[in-house]
Amino acid sequence: MTAELFTTTITGAARIGPNRELKRATESYWAGRIDRSELDKVAAGLRRDTWTALSMAGLDSVPVNTFSYYDQVLDTAELLGALPKRYAGIDDDLDRYFAAARGTSNVAPLEMTKWFDTNYHYLVPEISDEISFTLHPQKVLSELEEARAQRLPARPVVIGPITFLLLSKATVGAADPTGDEAQRSSTNPMSRIDELTPLYVDLLGKLKEAGASWVQIDEPALCTDLSPEVLAAVSRVYKAIAADYSRPAIMVTSYFGDLREALPVLAKTSVEALGLDLVSADPDAIAAVPELRTKHVVAGVVDGRNIWRTDLDKALATLGTLLGSVGSLAVSTSCSTLHVPYSLDPEDELDEELRSWLAFAAEKVAEVVTLSRALRHGRDTVRDAFAASAAARASREADPRLRNNDIRARLSSVLSGGLTRGPAAERLIEQTERLGLPALPTTTIGSYPQTSAIRVARAQRRSGEIDNAEYERRMQSEIANVITLQEELGLDVLVHGEPERNDMVQYFAEQLDGFFATANGWVQSYGTRCVRPPILYGDVARPTPMTVDWITYAQSLTSKPVKGMLTGPVTILAWSFVRDDQPLAETANQIALAIRDETVDLQSAGVAIIQVDEPALRELLPLRASDKTEYLAWAVGAFRLSTSGVADSTQIHTHLCYSEFGEVIGAIADLDADVTSIEAARSHMEVLEDLNGIGFSNSVGPGVYDIHSPRVPSTGEIIESLRSALEAVPAQRLWVNPDCGLKTRGQAEVKESLQNLVAATAAVRAELA
Ligand code: GLN
Ligand code: ZN
Repeated sequence: MTAELFTTTITGAARIGPNRELKRATESYWAGRIDRSELDKVAAGLRRDTWTALSMAGLDSVPVNTFSYYDQVLDTAELLGALPKRYAGIDDDLDRYFAAARGTSNVAPLEMTKWFDTNYHYLVPEISDEISFTLHPQKVLSELEEARAQRLPARPVVIGPITFLLLSKATVGAADPTGDEAQRSSTNPMSRIDELTPLYVDLLGKLKEAGASWVQIDEPALCTDLSPEVLAAVSRVYKAIAADYSRPAIMVTSYFGDLREALPVLAKTSVEALGLDLVSADPDAIAAVPELRTKHVVAGVVDGRNIWRTDLDKALATLGTLLGSVGSLAVSTSCSTLHVPYSLDPEDELDEELRSWLAFAAEKVAEVVTLSRALRHGRDTVRDAFAASAAARASREADPRLRNNDIRARLSSVLSGGLTRGPAAERLIEQTERLGLPALPTTTIGSYPQTSAIRVARAQRRSGEIDNAEYERRMQSEIANVITLQEELGLDVLVHGEPERNDMVQYFAEQLDGFFATANGWVQSYGTRCVRPPILYGDVARPTPMTVDWITYAQSLTSKPVKGMLTGPVTILAWSFVRDDQPLAETANQIALAIRDETVDLQSAGVAIIQVDEPALRELLPLRASDKTEYLAWAVGAFRLSTSGVADSTQIHTHLCYSEFGEVIGAIADLDADVTSIEAARSHMEVLEDLNGIGFSNSVGPGVYDIHSPRVPSTGEIIESLRSALEAVPAQRLWVNPDCGLKTRGQAEVKESLQNLVAATAAVRAELA
């Protein structure tokens, strides 16, 4: 291939829009307020603006097809003709696509799970025998055409076949058209790998015809531990895809880690370029691979997933290590900037120092451009940018907010006191006596639907139209509504509904020292759902109680127990942009100490049940087996630090969701929560068997229905779920709850679903009696 070499690029870009335009448009489309052509217009405008900005900033190769209406893995399933048959009856292609993403009233969506160790969620392709792969390249071809019409050096990006299959799950197929029976089959999706090779060859030929000189094939899964069979498949598939035929030059891109044994395997194929994550990988190890002497190495030296300004001197040194050892060198980000906010521009409330320490997507693009110039024309040609980077680093290192010696001293004294509570069985006796709950207690995970009254109140407080007292009064009235609703429904353990929380992490971050919130730092979490992670820059301290007033207010309205709701230390860490100047474990413990202080205050206020949510426990799990034990030890330690300050008669709940729990199952037991509510609706109770397998004997609430879909579960379905849960867990330690918080759902659908949940529980209680 004789494609011209590029020097300056990024791995991929966000698509939700600098002001979440795509979110708004897509939700309007779903609600029937705008039609397809209006939605397409917004999307095309965002693509055009993104590409223009990247090319104006100085990239000489611009990634395209990183746009998505929902998720890039779902796009790939569509590209490869791998959508399950249950969606085939939906005529409109976009509605079919959204049905796979979200479900409809009569068809279940694909399962959703975390994208590697990030807080982005992808849809898990289902591979069954009924699928025969076929190529549907319309999306990538039309985006390429759009970009070329703009005269951009467009580089289409697609997910590679190995990653696609490694992220898929095998199912037995659509015996049941609703997808409820889409159980795992024992066939490994990877056994289908050779069927994909001709499709990629076909795709590359078509992209070449359409004018692409480079194509990027993303294979982040190659940064995980691979079996010899998978490594053999990598070699076989990429030798075939990179064979000599009319095709564009190929860049295989890996991220979120280090390729290790996959690096020489890829390097021995004829792909022209490798995109490498140089934030994770050791440049000396890369420089030592002889086959790279003929490759174009696209070095991801600017971290695509944190928000700290790059140490330009260090990055340039990394590039220098590679320079003589590889064929040619381009500068890039370590991964797509999907994981960071668009730009620092709207952040005018940050103080000068803080701001100087940061780089969001636009600033990272500028860093890539600066490094590329330094590499090609010498550091002196970009002297000012290097000086600013060094000055920012010095200002950060010297800032007094980074160290709070009182907190450090208290932390070590609490840690030396030990983190164990009384034996779980004895705690259960004390708690049962105190709470007096029926068998199979019913509860919810915390949040209730975000009503328009909540949104209005928040907007009016922001604009100054109402003061804090009025805002609090309105939130109290929301709490009162939610308590009334739960009493009417007949739930056993109530929640206050979390109306005052904009977000389960940000709410705490705003009240803790060591964090600051961004004004517009949104990143996509899944589909149209965006989050605004706070920035954790210094030592964490809790100046005053954060939740006690709200919970005691809720408790004052009812004689049923109301759960105190807290977010756990690992989740606060995972859903923030975290300081990179000390080990994560240390930061986790500082957060845990603040949460521990809160549990003690809740207990003193008379709260009998406290839930400490850790939905992100699995998310931070390192991708390599060799790093997992150490992580789990400190993550569990931080959770126990946060929950071991209370009496044995106080019941600690935790909540976990969004993931395959297999690998962290032992850690779930080590958390030693009295009750664990856990997502199980979408993964069909598999988790209970896993918990039994490790001898877990505390109480558990496997989610009996999926809240990620608008579908209302029938009473019969929930009865079935409960019966199957009872096969795995005795009634004495089974709780009944949805699989996650309800804040993204509509009020009517929540009421109906919970009615069915309570009715189903009553029916199953009767069977037990
Ligand atoms: N308590 C939170 C809620 O109900 C938990 C959210 C989550 O698990 N992501 O919203
Ligand atoms: Zn959840």
